[in-house]
Amino acid sequence: MIRFLLLAALLPVAAFGEDVKATNTVCPVSGKPIDVTVKPVEAKVGDQTVQIGACCTKCRAKIEADPATFAKKVVAAPAK
Ligand SMILES: [Zn+2]
Repeated sequence: MIRFLLLAALLPVAAFGEDVKATNTVCPVSGKPIDVTVKPVEAKVGDQTVQIGACCTKCRAKIEADPATFAKKVVAAPAK
């Protein structure tokens, strides 16, 4: 039982550890700088995989609803 609790406590840390870096620095929805604590949405443009960062969870939801459209915007305006 104690061992199970320890494992459960460690899981969120492990999930946070595999941090993905956003391809963009500006939110393609709002034009504001992205929030690095918002998990990027993975999308593909051709054979290129992009991690679309968002400034907030609301924008993230919009990106998630139509990742292909926002992925193109991110590739058109790459991070400086
Ligand atoms: Zn936003």
